[in-house]
Amino acid sequence: MHLYLHFPICHRVCPYCSFYKHEIGGHSISRIIDSLLGEAQYYGSLYPDTSIKTIYFGGGTPSMIPSSEMIRLVEGLHEHLILNELQEFTLEANPATFKLKKAQTYQHIGINRVSLGVQSFDLKTLQTLGRDHLPVQAVQAYHLLRDAGIPQVNIDLMYSVPGLSLSQWQETLQTTIKLHPDHISAYNLTYEEDTPFFDSLQAGDLDFNDDRDAEHYTLTDQLLCEAGYRHYETSNFAKPGFESIHNQSYWEGNHYLGLGPSAVSTIGSERWSNIADTAAYQKLISSVGHAKTTHETIDPQAYRIERIALQLRTLKGVSLSHLSESVRPRLEQLQSLKLLTILNDRVVLINDGKMHVDTIASELI
Ligand code: SF4
Repeated sequence: MHLYLHFPICHRVCPYCSFYKHEIGGHSISRIIDSLLGEAQYYGSLYPDTSIKTIYFGGGTPSMIPSSEMIRLVEGLHEHLILNELQEFTLEANPATFKLKKAQTYQHIGINRVSLGVQSFDLKTLQTLGRDHLPVQAVQAYHLLRDAGIPQVNIDLMYSVPGLSLSQWQETLQTTIKLHPDHISAYNLTYEEDTPFFDSLQAGDLDFNDDRDAEHYTLTDQLLCEAGYRHYETSNFAKPGFESIHNQSYWEGNHYLGLGPSAVSTIGSERWSNIADTAAYQKLISSVGHAKTTHETIDPQAYRIERIALQLRTLKGVSLSHLSESVRPRLEQLQSLKLLTILNDRVVLINDGKMHVDTIASELI
């Protein structure tokens, strides 16, 4: 089983972000940690023989948590869950939230992968995105992680941001490559409903540009692959052997448990999500031990559709067994257009097909 932890607090809320998060307000970080541990204890007794293979601690901004509370959290997780087969422990970190000592604590408590939310090395783009760090802080934060001995570092980037030219994006990619991170995630900015960016798009204050998306995507693929990274998923690049185990298991459809407000779990054919309200989450954990609010059973058809949508994004592709006979003619057409290929009974997107993954997935479902 794999574990996701959600910490909902951020110093400042970015206007494009659709995750459940908020500023600290009247909340106590220590009490949120208490609740995460209470929930870990609840599920630890529900699944007493299940070992956790990977942990991904995201949010929100979990790197805001003081070192003493991080130590307490990780010690508590060891107490409540079986972690002796843990292969990967990723923490999402914001460059403005830690110094060397905190990074050393991460290393001491077994965090072996840090995903650094850089987004851009261009100041204007950081301002457009509402980020609270400067490009120089991102470079310093990267070196701090390396100095602390963190074995794997991912840099998160964002392209197709309004106002970001192709040459500015190229500079961000080149700066990133020079740092030699083990892994790079490069996401196309999307406008999610109920975000200020979505409202600005609707009002015509921000623009959406398919050509810019395609140009930025193509340049990313070209430069990062030339620099020795494997483009192993639409938005993810890794030096060989540094692919994220946690993310790959999610795409494969393995079981995962989510703790924290708004976190989603999928175990077997059961999927549930926690309440997306920090105060209500804390109350539920202290009264009943869990915070489930929605629940669904994933039928074989829904499972099949999800595998097509997620695995088509990967270099490994999707098993032909997930596709129905009715899409065969379209599959052959796309193959003759050299947008996909079939390798070892798996459908793998190639060339421009990779850029049009969502359209192709919807045609093959
Ligand atoms: S720091 Fe991360 S989680 Fe927080 S608002 Fe910004 S993008 Fe969202």
